[in-house]
Amino acid sequence: MSVIDDLIDRLDRARVLTDPDVVGSYVHDEAEWAPYSAPLAVVRATSTNDVQRTVRWALEHNVPLVPRGAGTGLSGGANSIAGCVVVCLEKMDAVLEVNPLERIAVVQPGVVNDDLRKTVAEQGLWYPPDPASSPWSTIGGNVATNAGGVCCVKYGVTRDYVIGLEVVTGTGEVVRLGRRTAKGVAGLDLAGLFVGSEERSASSPRSP
Ligand SMILES: Cc1cc2nc3c(=O)[nH]c(=O)nc-3n(C[C@H](O)[C@H](O)[C@H](O)COP(=O)(O)OP(=O)(O)OC[C@H]3O[C@@H](n4cnc5c(N)ncnc54)[C@H](O)[C@@H]3O)c2cc1C
Repeated sequence: MSVIDDLIDRLDRARVLTDPDVVGSYVHDEAEWAPYSAPLAVVRATSTNDVQRTVRWALEHNVPLVPRGAGTGLSGGANSIAGCVVVCLEKMDAVLEVNPLERIAVVQPGVVNDDLRKTVAEQGLWYPPDPASSPWSTIGGNVATNAGGVCCVKYGVTRDYVIGLEVVTGTGEVVRLGRRTAKGVAGLDLAGLFVGSEERSASSPRSP
């Protein structure tokens, strides 16, 4: 059984894209100038469980993973590297909860920035971080790049609006960081530590 057959075995077949013509639209972000290579496959995750299974599979087979939101990044951070699997989060696009009393929203990573802003506006709330890519870029990508636009000069960047995260670690564990309340005084700000996690620059791609 090939490594990709094993991945397909662990996920729904529909989640794993291998057709080169389809995969080709996931190989780079808006930094086309940055290096990129063909991935083995693209996983279109629909749940945390899909991501966790993919990470565990990648660990077993020593395959690098590249997360991807909408691919609007300008630094090549979502660019595919040779032999990797791109994990695309765009299908995880649900706003799970909006709580006007606590003034919090719980969202999946593939929610588009403008969609979140529209949804919370229905409850009289405003989500200030406004990268100019807000009609397309996802909250997951915004978090990984700590995105900010014009409003952020006055109101702060993405990090200032993330109080909790559910994270699949590189070892395939699911951890919850942060809090649900405005006040949070205990321990280190681990959720804040994850915001701005994008690390790979186009000039220094990591080897598999
Ligand atoms: C026209 C245009 C205007 C822009 N304006 C701004 C601006 O004003 N301010 C600004 O800050 N940026 C701007 N950008 C850059 C880009 O839109 C932002 O970096 C945005 O946050 C990327 O979101 P995305 O969903 O497209 O992420 P992607 O490009 O898909 O990924 C960006 C990075 O995040 C990682 N990533 C994505 N999703 C996840 C996830 N769920 N978990 C872990 N890692 C993840 C990727 O691996 C990659 O490193 C602009 C881009 C364009 C094309």
